[in-house]
Amino acid sequence: MVDRPEVALDELYREVVLDHHRHPRGRTPLPRVDARAHGFNPVCGDEVRLGLALDGDRITGVEVQGRGCAICTASGSIMAELVPGRTGAEADALAEMFRAVMHGKGAPEEADLGDLEALEGVKKFPVRVKCALLPWMTLADALRALHEGEAEVTTTTETEEVNP
Ligand code: ZN
Repeated sequence: MVDRPEVALDELYREVVLDHHRHPRGRTPLPRVDARAHGFNPVCGDEVRLGLALDGDRITGVEVQGRGCAICTASGSIMAELVPGRTGAEADALAEMFRAVMHGKGAPEEADLGDLEALEGVKKFPVRVKCALLPWMTLADALRALHEGEAEVTTTTETEEVNP
């Protein structure tokens, strides 16, 4: 059977991804923001404005604003669902795991990626991988900035290698 990317993506868009795209989570402004980061993917034009609220090392709230394609919006929405309640280190580990999956390296058997699994098919489309990873790269940078005492950082997918 011929691999037809459009069809595969179409199936991917359906259900989980489309639901997150249409009803993105994390759009409600947080009453208090402890870390901010701004992510930009020049290839697609995706933009993520991320705000995090923390209680100690635990992330209590995720706010995702900005504009992006369906994949970027869905990925950010899923992030807003998965990240609250985790520590910064746990969120970093999840971001790292998702990045490995997107680069075709697979995830540990016991890994629970939640709705992120719906985005796994995106790894077949290197250009779209940046769209899926942008919210997570922005999250990692927001956490790093927080540790380093920076007020806000800017993330760009320019530095993200595609299928090295
Ligand atoms: Zn995009």
